Parts: sequence; structure tokens; C-alpha cells
Amino acid sequence: MNLYEYQAREILRRHGIPVPDGDVATTPDEARAIAQRLGGRVVVKAQVHAGGRGKAGGVKLATNPTEAAAHARQILGMTIKGLPVHKVLVAPAADIASESYVGMIVDRGAQRPVLMVSAAGGVDIEAVAAHTPTQIHRLAVDPRYGLLSHQALGLALTLYRDVAQARAAADIMQRLYTAFYAVGASLAEINPLATTPDGKVMALDAKIVVDDNELERRPEIAALRDPEAEAASEVAAREAGLSFIKLDGTVGCCVNGAGLAMATMDLVKYYGGEPANFLDIGGSSNPQKVVAALRIITADPSVRAILFNIFGGITRCDDVANGIVQATQQLPLKVPMVIRLTGTNEQEAVAILTRAGYTALTDMDDAVKQAVARARGKAA
Ligand code: GDP
Ligand code: MN
Repeated sequence: MNLYEYQAREILRRHGIPVPDGDVATTPDEARAIAQRLGGRVVVKAQVHAGGRGKAGGVKLATNPTEAAAHARQILGMTIKGLPVHKVLVAPAADIASESYVGMIVDRGAQRPVLMVSAAGGVDIEAVAAHTPTQIHRLAVDPRYGLLSHQALGLALTLYRDVAQARAAADIMQRLYTAFYAVGASLAEINPLATTPDGKVMALDAKIVVDDNELERRPEIAALRDPEAEAASEVAAREAGLSFIKLDGTVGCCVNGAGLAMATMDLVKYYGGEPANFLDIGGSSNPQKVVAALRIITADPSVRAILFNIFGGITRCDDVANGIVQATQQLPLKVPMVIRLTGTNEQEAVAILTRAGYTALTDMDDAVKQAVARARGKAA
């Protein structure tokens, strides 16, 4: 579960990390009132479950309450990465002398929480990670001992020459580690961790992702969920009884069985593509589920190709084939579709699809390669 910046800031604040004051507004008038109360320059920030808000125009400085209201009006009308902005955070604007990055993640490779820091923080951290990864320092933390002070200070000294600032940053890292565990996070990052011209170190942005499996024993964190922010596709899928998770890629996947769905996503990545979703239509033989699945996948504008991967066991391939034919009659496809079916009633399925003008493949590698190529706009 993603938290909003204002929720993540509050968690960091409760753990003793210096975070500027601030409040959330849903209207320009509220934003004006908060700016009035805070006095001085403020920053108005879109609250959405997406990064890159600064670059998208969702973070704006205002010198007075009237300007804050105007920025809020504009930002509240925006969508950022497809997400409509319903709330803005209004906070005192800090003067920034430098921007660092500090983040905790669960690293599956290391099988440990890993702390990552970089002196090249700010809005271009993704480019730093991609092009100059040596500017990012990492430390796998042994959870038996936690993040020790000398470890934190060692990392902090890669960020700041000034010892007082390094000590302040090390303290923030240890508190971030504690907060990360306390909320059951899979990611907790501060970017920028800013210094001000007078030498203070503080968190100006916070992002926390909580592991869904940790929510049951943390009702106070679970209560932070915003039902409005759930993707419409995920709500529709839940109603149709499909296991669906929206992802950022271009290959829409429709698979039966969670294991096969994951294997399919792995193979899509292996052949250089990116899955647009995880979708398990389940083990039943219900053409209506296929219709619902296709409706959800085709509603995603980033989908460039659709891949069906069906292993017929309890699921009958002919039922899925009928579902595909019905669905494509109801909603004509604008993107290419690659179908792979094998197992129970495969022959019947092939006959149904052939009559409807579709080719059915039996080899999973072939099908995935074709889907990836089609998603790139190439003929198979
Ligand atoms: P993101 O783009 O979604 O990561 O949003 P951030 O909260 O990190 O803001 C983006 C950028 O806006 C930061 O890297 C800063 O350069 C700038 N910014 C954010 N808050 C302030 C502030 O209080 N004062 C100033 N001067 N700039 C800020
Ligand atoms: Mn940021």
C-alpha cells in the first residue's frame, strides 16, 4: 500500500526526523488559509501515489497566500501519471543548499533491508541510478543489530563533508530505519534530504510503501488507505472475481493460475518486454470472466499488445476461446492479440478461434516473443 507524502511525513515526524510543518488542502481556499497560518513562502505539493511530481508541475513555490491558492487551484486540476490530484500539501518552503537521497528498501537479493544514499539527490535520482550508479552508496543492514551508529555515520560522510551535517544525517538514517520497521514498510525514502543555507538537514519529501501483509497487525497504518486512489481497473477486477494488479508495461497479460501468470510475466521481461498487468482469470471455465478480463486490459491506454496464456486443466480451453470471441465482438480490439492455449479441449479451442479468424499458438516462448514484438509495433 502506498502512502501519501503527507502521511509519510507524519510518520517520519513521529520518529523524530526533522520535517517542515504543513497541512493538507482539498480546495484553493483551504490552501490559502494554511499559507496564511504558516506565513512567509510556502510550497504547494500534489498528493498522489506517484513520484516525479516536481517535473510534472505538481510542486510549486508561492510567496503569499493568494499565490498559494492559485497554485492549489491549478494543481488540484491536474492528473500526474494518470492519477487525478485531490489533495495538496501546503508547507513552509525551505531554502535549499543541497539535495541528497536516502532510502530503505527490502532487497531480495541481499535478503536484508538495504539503505541507499546518494549525494546526487533531487528530481533526477532515477537518472543517477541508471547512468552513474557509483554515486549511490548501499549498505545491507543486519536486522539482528539494526543500523549501527558508525555504519550510519560512514554513509552520512559520503553525503556531507561537514561533520555536524553528517551527524544529523546519520541520526535521520537511524530513525528512518526504525520507522521503516515500525510501519512494516517495503520502501521508505527521503528525497530530497535537504540542507538549508544555515546548515540544517531536513526531509522535504517522503515516500513510504507498506507491505500489504503487514497491515493486518497495524490497523492504524491500514486506516491510512485511500479507497479513492485505488486504480479503477483493480476495483473492477475485484468485482469480477479476478486477481489483477496493474503494472506499468505495455504487454497486457491474461493468464489462468497465479503461478503461470508470474511465469508469463517473467518470460515477458526475459524477452525484453514489460507486462502491463498481472491477471489471473482463475481456474474456472467461465467465458464471462474472460470478457471482464479483456475489458479491464483494453481499458489501459498503455497496453500495446495482449497476450493470452492458458493452460487447460480445470479451465477448458474452448471456454476461454469462446470468451475471447465473445469479448472481441463486444469490444473490438485496437491492439494485436497473441493467444497461446494448451491442455484440456485444446483442439476445440483452436477450431473456435480459427473460425473467428485468430491464430492459436501452443508454445509459450513463441507466444511471449510474438507479444513482446507486437507491443513494440513490430510484425511477428
Ligand atoms: P517529487 O518530484 O515528486 O519527488 O517531489 P519533491 O517533493 O521531491 O519535490 C521536487 C523538488 O521540488 C525537490 O527536489 C526540490 O528541488 C523542490 N522543492 C520541494 N520542496 C521545496 C521547498 O520547500 N523549497 C524549495 N526551494 N524547493 C522545494
Ligand atoms: Mn522527491
